[in-house]
Amino acid sequence: MSAELIELTVAEAAERIRSGELAADEYFDAYREAAAGDSLNALLWRAENGAEADLEGTRAAQEEIDPERPLAGIPVAVKDIFCTEGVPTTAGSRILEGYRPPYTATAVRGLRRAGARVLAKANMDEFAMGSSNENSGYGPALNPWDSGRVPGGSSGGSAAAVAGRLAPCAIGTDTGGSIRQPAALCGIVGMKPTYGAVSRYGMIAFASSLDQCGPLTRNVTDAALLLRAMEGRDPCDSTSVGIDGGIDLPSREDLKGLSFGVPRELSSEAEGIESGVREVFERTVGLIEQLGGEVSETELRHAPHGISAYYVLAPAEASANLARFDGVRYGLRVEADELTGMYERTRAQGFGPEVKRRIMLGTYALSSGYYEAYYGRAQRVRTKIAEDFSKAFERFDFVVTPTSPTVAFELGAKTDDPLAMYLNDYCTVPMPLAGIPAISIPAGVAPPDGGGPDLPVGFQVAGRAFSDSGILDVAHALERAIDFRPDRNGGPA
Ligand code: GLN
Repeated sequence: MSAELIELTVAEAAERIRSGELAADEYFDAYREAAAGDSLNALLWRAENGAEADLEGTRAAQEEIDPERPLAGIPVAVKDIFCTEGVPTTAGSRILEGYRPPYTATAVRGLRRAGARVLAKANMDEFAMGSSNENSGYGPALNPWDSGRVPGGSSGGSAAAVAGRLAPCAIGTDTGGSIRQPAALCGIVGMKPTYGAVSRYGMIAFASSLDQCGPLTRNVTDAALLLRAMEGRDPCDSTSVGIDGGIDLPSREDLKGLSFGVPRELSSEAEGIESGVREVFERTVGLIEQLGGEVSETELRHAPHGISAYYVLAPAEASANLARFDGVRYGLRVEADELTGMYERTRAQGFGPEVKRRIMLGTYALSSGYYEAYYGRAQRVRTKIAEDFSKAFERFDFVVTPTSPTVAFELGAKTDDPLAMYLNDYCTVPMPLAGIPAISIPAGVAPPDGGGPDLPVGFQVAGRAFSDSGILDVAHALERAIDFRPDRNGGPA
């Protein structure tokens, strides 16, 4: 019985729960059991019972539930970067060990209002800095397709949990690719909405001008259901505006009348694209044409500089955002004889090496004398990238690229080479720099260059700001045509 429950989509399960055909507790218990057997280190905290899942005794629990309960009884794995009242929240860092926030993130409250329950908090790279989950202070999460490989990052725990059948759906955050890249490496759907679509209130900040929350699910409709429950304007986040008219559930079955640009900088000419990834990408572009979409090559001239700009801007913002972790307000405190010593020891012990690297990079980039040369320049590159997209969208409705240049790589393969690790984000970083939405859907499998098992390959669709419903619609049509079946491709069933 529970094996069958675990295969239900979010839409199906919610429907059965609403109609009374399935008891919410039975469904939740099936997942609680699955989550308890987590052999992927995907989850850092799990709800022991239904009351905890409903965040009983918290303000979120007192919230009025939408009478239509679009997510009735749906268990959600929440990336551990979202504050959940009374429930441990670490952002994957030892510096927040033992921290229990006094409030719940607006995005999680949106899911709760729609009827969802918090099943677990998902593992992640420390403060969302990483592409492999190996920067977690609590050990790496593993890829359910091959536990010797990374699930991607930073929302690796969320992606591994959904692909590995520990949760029916999850939420994560994407600053430079952290939803889309792990979704691609684990063979699931992951979407970064338009910047401002979902409130960042209660989402522990990494790079505030880039961070966005979004869904990780097993299909496109489920992603739309989650996003629909989370988007909206929130007085607690002045950069949130929501999406006019909300999110429509996707229904498109063809792509007639739509145009797609393939930027050569992020496809044929992209750095480090594996041949298997390229093949699946080209096949999927062929499918777009078969579905009636018009495809031509386009250019995003400055996109190749995205990584360089991102790795100045994101660390600069992080160096400011992470100043608050000093042993006074939250989590870990390492005592010393005087105050500065306490700050220093707490931060030295609490932060991992990647976080320290970024704080140093960011502080340097913002220091007087260097500010213009690094931060100012990176901001100008960011503007150029946004202009490139605007130009492309004058001609095309959507832009498509591979999500990640490679399939899932082996644990440890890139940990000694931060620059190689940063290249994972080559195709995903330009979109958050421009603030536009993008989705990754599984498009097939391919072996890594140099040989190895077949592993999932993601296909990315990006669109104009606030075209989130349109992107979901395109992804829905493509998903039908691709008919990706992990169980028939050596993946987790
Ligand atoms: N991999 C990128 C980084 O390390 C992106 C992370 C993210 O999107 N949170 O910064």
